[in-house]
Amino acid sequence: MKYIDEYYEQKLCSRLSVDIKREAEGLEALSFMEVCGTHTMSIFRNGIKALLPDNIRLLSGPGCPVCVTPNNYIDRAIALSRLEDVIITTFGDMIKVPGSSSSLAEEKARGRNIITVYSPTDALKLALDNPGRRVVFLGIGFETTVPVVAASIWDAKARDVSNFFVLVSHKLVNPAIRAILDAGELNLSGFLLPGHVSTIIGRQIYDYLADEYSIPAAIAGFEPVDILGAILSLVKQVNSGKASVENCYKRSVMEEGNKAAQKLMWEVYEVCDTEWRGIGMIPGSGLKVREGYRDYDALERIEVEVEKTKENPACICGEILRGVKTPLDCALFGGVCTPENPIGPCMVSSEGTCAAYYKYGG
Ligand code: SF4
Repeated sequence: MKYIDEYYEQKLCSRLSVDIKREAEGLEALSFMEVCGTHTMSIFRNGIKALLPDNIRLLSGPGCPVCVTPNNYIDRAIALSRLEDVIITTFGDMIKVPGSSSSLAEEKARGRNIITVYSPTDALKLALDNPGRRVVFLGIGFETTVPVVAASIWDAKARDVSNFFVLVSHKLVNPAIRAILDAGELNLSGFLLPGHVSTIIGRQIYDYLADEYSIPAAIAGFEPVDILGAILSLVKQVNSGKASVENCYKRSVMEEGNKAAQKLMWEVYEVCDTEWRGIGMIPGSGLKVREGYRDYDALERIEVEVEKTKENPACICGEILRGVKTPLDCALFGGVCTPENPIGPCMVSSEGTCAAYYKYGG
């Protein structure tokens, strides 16, 4: 296929739907987890669930970067925003996420300097344009985002910029998948793997899923035909009894990924343990700034007092991110908690499961 419209083609989607139903006939109930928030949104927006047979269930996983960022990170960003000489720069989704007792949106309304940017390069430019201010970029996200944030730190060092910092809370996708499998809370039949993360890290890095866990996996792009094609691959793997990691997004993902992006990522960052909302501390699942780039690490270089973390006990974002509950299990969903008045991050983010349920229906 050559053009993007072909990946929406109704006839092709219907044919894939028929193939999936035929392959799944007579099988016991199957639960596939889409690890990535972009998949969650695409599945809802395109009505993919309605094209699947009753014995196939799709579960959302921990792949929305805003949703898995813990409260203490947001509280630190809020504390930094209260420093007179600091400008906070961030992607838009982070602004409305509630921290323990405030949010960046509330702080902005109180006059703090908080600016939405489209890339860390914009944040670096802001630092160059405001030499008397300290500009902090909120560096969250998975391997998709990491190289571009790493590039901004590398660039800041190359240009000897002294007022640019990144507050890092990057996450790595594979340790989270392992944590979900090792926790044994779900009886999963396969994983729909994220197309954009895989574009950076490649296909072969997931081989452990088949080799160690014998669980089917398929890398998918984000259009309806991509997703249905990957689901068909998963059902076929279940039927054949042989798990593999199939690359169903070959127009973007290569075996070893994007080596130039990986080189930049490992030049600036090294692996560390990190905390995930709803899952807790996962060893080796995060990144921290390497020694040679510490001057750009907001955590190291800007001291600030951060309030003690409080969570809203009624919000079940954590369980939703582990796939053990859905938004419909939350007493606050759609009433107290809406996109206009979000109680937890899963209702804020454009990739959040609660936002998807609210917008498109459960
Ligand atoms: S509906 Fe709101 S309160 Fe409930 S889990 Fe989702 S974000 Fe949290």
